[in-house]
Parts: sequence; structure tokens; C-alpha cells
Amino acid sequence: MELLHLKNLDLENKKVFIRCDFNVPMDEFGNISDDRRIRSAVATINYCLDQDCAVILASHLGRPKGEVVEKYSLAPVARRLQQLLKRHVELASDVVGEDAMQKAKDLPRHEVLLLENLRFEAGETKNDEALSKKLASMADFYVNDAFGVSHRAHASVEGITNFFDTQHKAAGFLLEREIQFFGKLINNPVRPFAAIVGGSKVSGKLEALVNLLPKVDKIFIGGGMAFTFLKQMGYDIGASLVEDDLLEDAQHIMDEAKKLGVKLYLPVDVVAADKFAEDAVSKLVTAQEIPNGWMGLDIGPATVRLYREGLNDVQTVLWNGPMGVYEMEKFARGSSKIAHFVADSYATTVVGGGDTADLVQRIGVDEEMSFISTGGGASLELLEGKILPGVAPLIIKED
Ligand code: AMP
Repeated sequence: MELLHLKNLDLENKKVFIRCDFNVPMDEFGNISDDRRIRSAVATINYCLDQDCAVILASHLGRPKGEVVEKYSLAPVARRLQQLLKRHVELASDVVGEDAMQKAKDLPRHEVLLLENLRFEAGETKNDEALSKKLASMADFYVNDAFGVSHRAHASVEGITNFFDTQHKAAGFLLEREIQFFGKLINNPVRPFAAIVGGSKVSGKLEALVNLLPKVDKIFIGGGMAFTFLKQMGYDIGASLVEDDLLEDAQHIMDEAKKLGVKLYLPVDVVAADKFAEDAVSKLVTAQEIPNGWMGLDIGPATVRLYREGLNDVQTVLWNGPMGVYEMEKFARGSSKIAHFVADSYATTVVGGGDTADLVQRIGVDEEMSFISTGGGASLELLEGKILPGVAPLIIKED
């Protein structure tokens, strides 16, 4: 897929509006706990500044639901950006209010203005045309570098593109890299190609699973979603997470895998706990022997060994979703062991999904992975074969 290139825009002495994804996790004191998304945007911002233009940045943070909520202010983002860019970043006190409009109008070249949280405006998530128009009026060019929200038809992502012709809009470097990488992964992977899929629910990943089946050679299932499969296979899963309405879908996936010759792996043992808590009583049991009322919260050591064995000859790995409740130390072992194994392998390793990215970062193996996507939902929709609404207006040539 070829996108409108940022390098083809003639930015000199002009203003460029860059939609970024600065939706970073914060700790309880309001500090940024992982600034990967901000760091990932720096290349595009610096490139634009080098073209002698003025840069207007916009992003959302959290879900303030159309109201001004102090804790979702982009002030901490402005401070971090200032450190990373090594230049002043002016933060507007609103999105399209008097302050933002005036500051955008007066912005000289080589200067950076950051608008306040886009979702302080109710129109953002409604793809409101009036809001798109006001945002568009601030600049001569539009650049989308927010891969993480490109699956959303929002005012600053989709609606705004209607106000710029193809000479005046483009994909940023990050967006372009993500789209190219996933395109190559789906259309041209080095085989054997394995997907490791985990996380809480089948429902969130059902379409992606179905779409991945004809493309991969092996699928390893972990996390809460494994229990819907195990239940369908006739296992007693105790009080583990299950989606009873998806039992048939799970069967369909297993049948399809068989038909296509895809090797599908399910956990053979789990760490079972008497409750969903860090201080739960827990024990290792085989998948056949989960006690009544207990829940499987991580994959066990036999599963880790089995998955490692299966992953041994793999050349490409796509990983989306943790193998257990990795946020609790007690149930993080399975995810951690798999993460280390994947990181050590010589395969091309791609991590998609906020949780999985967070996981590999916590474990400290993020640098070892070939590619970590900044967008969980967006990468899943790409895997489902969808064209993202924020990307569609920027396509020159489809695959
Ligand atoms: P998702 O957002 O669907 O990728 O799911 C990520 C979440 O799944 C994480 O917060 C994990 O704690 C959770 N998770 C993983 N394994 C399990 C499990 N066995 N039971 C319940 N939740 C799980």
C-alpha cells in the first residue's frame, strides 16, 4: 500500500497540522510512565521543522468525554515533548477556542504549538464537520502520524482530511512505517509464520483470528481467551473467564485451522487461583484438572515448554495479547517466559497491542523485538483486513 508521502509536500514557510498519538499511560501522580508514543512522533516533527515551517500538534489523551478534565490535560506531554525536541513547545489552553486559534495564527516558522486534548471537544469522537473545519483552518497542510487512532473516524483523523487536497496532506513517518510493516507481515511473511494470541477475550480478537488463519502456519493461544476453546473441547474450566456465546466460533476456528493445516496450540496446564487477586491461593494444574470454582490466570510451565518447542523453527512471530494476568506478579511468569523466548529468537518479532507492548517493556525485552506497534486496536483492524478510516484518504495505491 502506498500512502501520500510527507516528503512530497512543499512545507517551506507554511503551517503544518500533525495529528499525533500522545495517548500515553500515566501513573497515579500524573507522570508519564511510558513515553514510547511521544518518542515515536519526534522524527516526523523534526523533519517538518527542518523544512522551515511552523508545526501545530494535536492529540487526545484518555477519555475526557467531551469535557475539560484537568487530569487529562496535555501539559505533561508538552513538557516531555520539550525535552525530546530540545525546543520550546507552546501549549494552547484550548483546542479550537480563542487561545488556540490566535496562537495558531501567530505561530512563526520553526515554532511548535500543541493544542489541548482533542477530546475536550465533544465533536472529536463524533467526527463533527464543524470541528474538523476549524482544526483544518489552522494550517496549510495536514499530516496524520497517529497510527494508534487511525482506526477511528474522528474529526482530527478522518473528517479533517476532507479539507485538504492530495497536494496538502500526507502520512507521517510513523504511520507509514506501521502500515508498511503490517502490510509486509500479512502479505509476505518469511515462513514459518506464527501468531501468539492472548488477552482476556475471544470477542475482541475473533475477526483477527479468523483473518489470520489462512496466513499463518501456527497459532498459539493463551490468556483468558484460551478457556473458551478449552471449554468447547469438553474440559472443565472451573470459574475461568469464558464467553459461552462464542463456543461455536471457537469450534469454527479449530475446524478451519485443521482444514488449512494450521497448527493450533492450546494450554496444557495453567496456574489456577481461588480468586482474581494478587493474594489468591494458587496452584499448578493440568488443563484437565482445574478445580471447581478456581480460575486459570496464567499458562503453566508445561505449556511454556510446549510453546517454546513449537516456536523453535518459526521465522516470523506476531504477538498480540498476554498469556496471563501479567499485571499481577504471581500470574506474570508465563507471559514473561514467552517474552524472553520470543526476544531471544532470530525470527522477525512483531508486538502489536498496548498490553503486549507494555508487557515486553516491563520485562525489559522491548529493545530485542523487531517491531513494536504503537497501536493495539489499529493493528488488530489491519490484521482483520480492514482499511482504516484515517488511512483511506491518504492512499495512493492499494496492494
Ligand atoms: P486484551 O485487552 O484483550 O488484550 O486483554 C489483556 C488483559 O487480559 C490483561 O489485562 C490481562 O490481565 C488479561 N488476562 C490475561 N489472561 C487472563 C486470564 N487467564 N484471565 C483473566 N484475564 C486475563
